[in-house]
Formats: sequence, structure tokens, C-alpha cells
Amino acid sequence: MAKTAKIKPLKILIAASEVVPFAKTGGLADVTGALPKALRALGHDVRVVMPKYKKIDDAKFSVVDTGKSVNVNIALVDHAGAIKETVIPGTDVPVYMIDNTEFFYRDEIYRTSTGEYWDNAERFLFFSKAVLEMLKELDWQPDVINCNDWHTGLIPVFLKTTYAADPFYAPIATAYSIHNIAYQGFFPKEIMSHAGLPWEIFNMHQLEFYGGVNYMKGGIVFSDVVNTVSRRYKEEIETPEFGYNLDGVLRERRESLFGILNGIDYDLWNPATDNCLPVNYDIDTVEKKVEVKKKLLETLGLKYYENVPVVGLVSRFDDQKGLDNISKIMEEMMRLNMQFVVLGTGEERYHEMFRYWAGVFPEKLSASIKFDNTLAHMIYAGSDMFLMPSYFEPCGLGQLIALKYGTVPVVRETGGLADTVKCYNFKEKKGNGFSYAGYYATDLFNTIRVAVDTFKNQQVWKKIQNNGMKEDFSWEHSAERYVDLYNNALQKKAK
Ligand code: ADP
Repeated sequence: MAKTAKIKPLKILIAASEVVPFAKTGGLADVTGALPKALRALGHDVRVVMPKYKKIDDAKFSVVDTGKSVNVNIALVDHAGAIKETVIPGTDVPVYMIDNTEFFYRDEIYRTSTGEYWDNAERFLFFSKAVLEMLKELDWQPDVINCNDWHTGLIPVFLKTTYAADPFYAPIATAYSIHNIAYQGFFPKEIMSHAGLPWEIFNMHQLEFYGGVNYMKGGIVFSDVVNTVSRRYKEEIETPEFGYNLDGVLRERRESLFGILNGIDYDLWNPATDNCLPVNYDIDTVEKKVEVKKKLLETLGLKYYENVPVVGLVSRFDDQKGLDNISKIMEEMMRLNMQFVVLGTGEERYHEMFRYWAGVFPEKLSASIKFDNTLAHMIYAGSDMFLMPSYFEPCGLGQLIALKYGTVPVVRETGGLADTVKCYNFKEKKGNGFSYAGYYATDLFNTIRVAVDTFKNQQVWKKIQNNGMKEDFSWEHSAERYVDLYNNALQKKAK
């Protein structure tokens, strides 16, 4: 039952390239799958639009054809997109899917192991225009479109240029959410004419970026409001170190830039109800967690030892995630009294690195080089601590999930990790994890060593675990802040 909205219910469209449970490569999909549910619970008319990828199984997700379609012209060629429809499972939130086999029937979403798809500029240009065309086809005019990351950065650009004179589109406000500023969608300038965009906006204050077109810059400059996924990351991306050359543009928009922490979807991430686990538990029955640990180790072919902590890592294998520092300390770390359970995919050199060390320490290290949601759930629940030594981390979901599962996070103090993990203070008995500030392999190693030592004192360990499990990172509060953001966008639009 939807709660009554405190203020006028809004019509909100969330446009994204990935949405849980239909398609996911990272945290963006978790957000776009969970935020709409929370907005719906607040009483808003929220809908979602995404591409229809080859991997999305129509039968499994009850995807049906609306009988409507759009036509998008790119470089003088028309591309058709059928509008399909389903709902976010367990809700009445509509999810529209733009179906075009040429652009979206690929094995992966953005890239293969050999690199990015060569036509990503056209693929997401097509999607962005198709989203706007779709609204007219459906005759549904949202108050605000919430665009996400570079894939949908052109939507606000179109709305303020080629669609601006059309009374159907003119009142629509835009909010632009940055989930990771390192991925910007930077393409050759020819995309301007392919997109039918006016060359007047190809200047350093608008869409131009080092001689090309930057989709994320378009989103930042042309949206009514901009937000990112934690307060600390908002501050960080305004600096040259973390702004990836967009810090100046963000500083110019400082009065319209906000940081709203992601929540997690406790319908999907809750040890008390998680059906990926052999045993369920909660804060009052946390002693059952060890049964999951035993099952996890058994599945991965490792032996269980009562006093040896298991450290978990579920991550994209990328320098952003601190994998370079892990590689520097692998040997010393594996000599500590711990076992290490790794799940991830990404850069080949890290696949090789983990495979190598798993060969050297077969009784202590398990490396699963793949994307596997069920195993991820098992690792969050079955590990004693969870490692996130990121160089930067816009919000980070792993540590929020770990906290809920009584798995103590060990993190570097950056972005959302700094906003959510508080280093345990032994005197005051406060804090929910372990953290360190500098981006140095020795700091990472020393922090892991302290955590492994602390595990020996189960009384202290239980206190840290308990502090973490008591935290509430549900979406409800953050969804209210998104509503404030949308209202702010509407006010700015009205000016
Ligand atoms: P990012 O979006 O930068 O990759 P986040 O921490 O925001 O990082 O979100 C990552 C999400 O993807 C989490 O839900 C995490 O559990 C999941 N994930 C990452 N790698 C894998 C993997 N190999 N298998 C299953 N889930 C994964």
C-alpha cells in the first residue's frame, strides 16, 4: 500500500542503462531497481525506462509488447525501437524497455574483454532520443526525468535544444545523477551532426570537451539539478584529483549539486530472508552466521577452522577498487592467519594475479573469476570481514550489504565508504568497521592486520558486528531526499 505523499505526487521517469533485476554490471543497477520502489511507496507515479538487452528473458520477467514503437534518426538513417513493458517484480512500477536488436542484442552491455563496443556513442544516443520519443507515443508527460550516468547524459541536452520548442517537452524538468564520474562517454565531435544537435552548443562551456563530445558533461551542464551518491563524493568530485577533468564544470554548478547517499534494498539484501543462504539469521541469531561460513568454504573447496577469519571481496577488478594495492600485499596478507574469498571480474592482469596466488596458497585463497549473484550473497553472509580498499568510491554498496550481514567492513576512507563506515574506537566501543585514510598498500595491510588480530577477541568482534547490524541504510530516507531534489529541479525549471 502506497503511503500518502506529503506533497503533491510527482510523475517521475527514471532513465538508466541498467536496472536490477533485468540487467546489472554494478551499483547503478541496484539503485535504479530500488529507488523507484521507495518513491512508489511515498505515493509518486514513478516509471523506469531502459534498453531491452538480449539477456533479458521476456518470459521470466513477463515482458510484453505495448504495440507502440519509436523511430530515431541517427546520421540520416532511421532506427526503430519497439516499446516493451513489464514491472519491477513485486511492485506496480512500470518498466519500459526500448527494443532494438541492432544496438542491444549483444552478449554484454557495454564492452567485451577486448574493449568497449565501437558504437557506444550511437547506442546510447539512440536510447536517449528513443526515451523522449517514447513519452509522446505513450502520451505520458513526466514532471521530471531522472537521468543516470553518461548513458543518458544527452537527454537533458535534447530537452534544452532540439525538443525545447515542443510544448509537450517544454515543462519537463531534469535531474542528473552521477554514479561514477570516471566513466563519461567521450566521443568524436561528429556525433553532434549524427544526433542533430546544434553546433552552437559545441563550446567549452557546454558540450565540447577536449575537441570531442562528453555525454556526462552534457548531463551536468544541461540538467536543472545534479546529484551524486554520497556527500563525501560530492565534495571529492569538485576537486582535480577526483573530478576527472569535470571538476571545473561541477564547481560552476555548485549551487545545484547535491550528495544523496544510496540505500540498499532490504527486500533483496537481508540475512533474515535471503534465499541464497542455507541458513537465515538476524541481529539476534547472529551465531547462525557460522553455518553460512562453513557452507561457503565447503562450496569453494576450503577447510573451515574455528578461529580463522574469512575475508571476502566482491568487486569489479579495477584500479578504482584498490586492486593495485591488494596486489602489492598479497603475499604478506596470505601469511596472516586468515582465509581470503574473492569474487569478481575485470582487468585481465588481476584475473592472473588472483589465479597465481590461489595456486601458491590453495588452502587459504579462493578466487572465483566471474559475475555470480548467488555466490556474492554467500560471500557477504559467510565472511567475517569484507574488504573495500577503493581509491575512490562514489557510494559503495558492498560495505552497506556487509554491515547488514554482520560482516565487518575494512575500507579506505573515501566517498561513500567514509560516510558510512566508522573505524572502531576500542575505548568508546563505537564504530562499525576498520578504516584507513592514505592510499598506501602498507596502510591497507596494517588495517587488515588489526582486523585479523581483533577477530581473536570475540567479545569485541561481536560488539563491532552488532554496531553494524543496527545501522539502517534502507531507501526510505534517501528516497525523500530524491523527492526534494526533483522539487528543486521543478522550481529551477519554472524560473
Ligand atoms: P560499482 O558500481 O562501482 O561496481 P558498487 O559497490 O556500487 O560498485 O556496486 C557493486 C554491486 O555489484 C554490488 O551489488 C556487488 O555485490 C555487485 N558485484 C560486483 N562484482 C560482482 C560479481 N563478480 N558477482 C556478483 N555481484 C557483483
